[in-house]
Amino acid sequence: MQIWTEEAIDAYNTELACCSPRERIAWVLDRYKKRVLINCGIGVGSVVLMKLIADAAANIKVVPDIVTIDTGIRLAGTRRLIKSLRHKFRLPIQALRPSAEDLATVRHLPNLAIFTGPQGLEERLRCCNVRKEAPLRRKLKQYDAWMNSLVPDGATTDRTTVPFVQIDEKHGGILKFNPLADHTKQDFWDFIRSHRLPYHPAFDLGFGSVGCGGCCTSSGEDRNGRWPWEKNRSGATCFINDVQKKPMDTDSA
Ligand code: SF4
Repeated sequence: MQIWTEEAIDAYNTELACCSPRERIAWVLDRYKKRVLINCGIGVGSVVLMKLIADAAANIKVVPDIVTIDTGIRLAGTRRLIKSLRHKFRLPIQALRPSAEDLATVRHLPNLAIFTGPQGLEERLRCCNVRKEAPLRRKLKQYDAWMNSLVPDGATTDRTTVPFVQIDEKHGGILKFNPLADHTKQDFWDFIRSHRLPYHPAFDLGFGSVGCGGCCTSSGEDRNGRWPWEKNRSGATCFINDVQKKPMDTDSA
């Protein structure tokens, strides 16, 4: 596998900054083809990403590898959304699920009392690790790069800036591409409405962010509705987009 230098990544970021999201996605798919994994979430950014991926894939004539992480306890309406994205864009979005062995190491959910008790944060991070991070970690061993719809989220986390490409130390030094990094949630909504694209029905019920049922509530704008009982809002993340390795990131997790 290629060892990346910070200088090479800086040069890529400079090059990609001059491109549109469509051009960035075409750039990545053309270079990496089946060696890049695309992660499709269920938020508005992922809907936009799937539309742009479908257009680029048709031009480049590649069938991209796309996954969606199915934690097993996602909000109602999630399955229908993924089905409609698969159908509308003719994309082979595969479900990525936690292993039975890993699931045996976490408490049964949904039971929010586990997460709001004295060891709540530890339990919650273990659950996110088992249900979200570990399946992706295992899958990424087969790839040289991955991509999703990450944007800056300085209002509710420490994520104030997002590069177009970065070295992902957590996944063995492969590349992580963020082709929509210079866009906002409002840009995504404008795109969805102008192209009449599907979106998660929970947004119409007042959810600002969509994810697992129970951990995701309609009690706040943007990501404030995620784990609303956690006081350190800048740490309220599942670490799926974190590129630094932490002790929990082991194959047995
Ligand atoms: S968001 Fe909640 S239910 Fe989903 S994986 Fe994380 S802790 Fe578990």
